[in-house]
Amino acid sequence: MKAHSPKILVTQPTLPDLDRYKALLQEIWDNKWLTNNGAFHQEFEQKLADYLGVPYVSLFSNGTIALMVALKALNIQGEVITTPFTFIATSHSLLWNNNTPVFADVDPVYGNLSVTEAEKQITDKTTAIMPVHVYGNPVDVDGFEQLARKYNLKIIYDAAHAFGVQQNGKSILNYGDLSILSFHATKTFNTVEGGAIISHDLATKKQIDYLKNFGFENETSVITLGINGKMNELIAAFGLLQLEHIDSDIAKRQKIAELYRKTLSGIKGIRFLEDMPHVRHNYSYFPIFVEPDYPLTRDELYHKLKANNIFSRRYFYPLVSDFPMYQHLPTATRDNLPVAHTLAEQVICLPMYAELKKSEIDKICQLL
Ligand SMILES: *Cc1c(COP(=O)(O)O)cnc(C)c1O
Repeated sequence: MKAHSPKILVTQPTLPDLDRYKALLQEIWDNKWLTNNGAFHQEFEQKLADYLGVPYVSLFSNGTIALMVALKALNIQGEVITTPFTFIATSHSLLWNNNTPVFADVDPVYGNLSVTEAEKQITDKTTAIMPVHVYGNPVDVDGFEQLARKYNLKIIYDAAHAFGVQQNGKSILNYGDLSILSFHATKTFNTVEGGAIISHDLATKKQIDYLKNFGFENETSVITLGINGKMNELIAAFGLLQLEHIDSDIAKRQKIAELYRKTLSGIKGIRFLEDMPHVRHNYSYFPIFVEPDYPLTRDELYHKLKANNIFSRRYFYPLVSDFPMYQHLPTATRDNLPVAHTLAEQVICLPMYAELKKSEIDKICQLL
């Protein structure tokens, strides 16, 4: 029999213990309360707020609806400065809300929106900034705070990658006006599909909760143009179990990142990211950047890995600014975004998940 190696995908979700999940499902079957702020929803919101160290969590059915509602909650109009080096949902939320995405370039090391480049894009129509903590690495939150104060702008952080990330012992989600999280199956903390908005005062939390429930304030009054973004009880119960092993998952991911770094250091033309000082990382992704002095091009390496059953991903390529609904924008040009273009052309995210084996990492590094 011919031995053939199993596929290694870029990520693999950690799942809760099935018997324990069945016990929670039994409770739901007994209560027959499936959605609309049930007991598991309330418990999950509270436990998440405690775990993350944030004042208020509003759960959502996914991170994209959370982004759209965050913009509505702050009544954002006009131009919003954001990054092209992200997942498409970031700027799609702006278009859905009839905002104009304005792209600014990113820093050449971590690929996060640059404060200096963002400032260059400010006009009298700018109302907000939407930076992304790309790969879970914090953006320059103090820099953006100063910028927002100087020009009277709102900040909504797309923190889809930044679950559990802390800087100087403080949750990164406590910066800006609002932060959104995604709990999609591919993220470090997953609830199959899911998301949240982190807010910092009760009035805003209430407004967000009305918005995700059609705008209902009570049985008979609809006070705002809401949508349906609610998380259901089956998912909230799932999330409660997921929260129990997230710290051990992150610890395993950290070990994997350290092993990758140790094995890859010294390979000419392969650049990887180091931990930032005073940051508790979540090791969501392990991006490498294939530089010109590497013997293969990025795409040659990507296909070589694929031919060996290693399914890496080119996050984020193509850039958002190159998709058809964005490419006509005045800020979507290559001239405006040279660094983002370079990173998009160099990046490969290697497989990264808690259960990735040492032998698999060795195989990947061998191929590199
Ligand atoms: C995953 C992701 C989202 C939203 O994801 P959903 O799948 O809608 O939960 C938003 N922004 C970024 C940067 C993401 O990676």
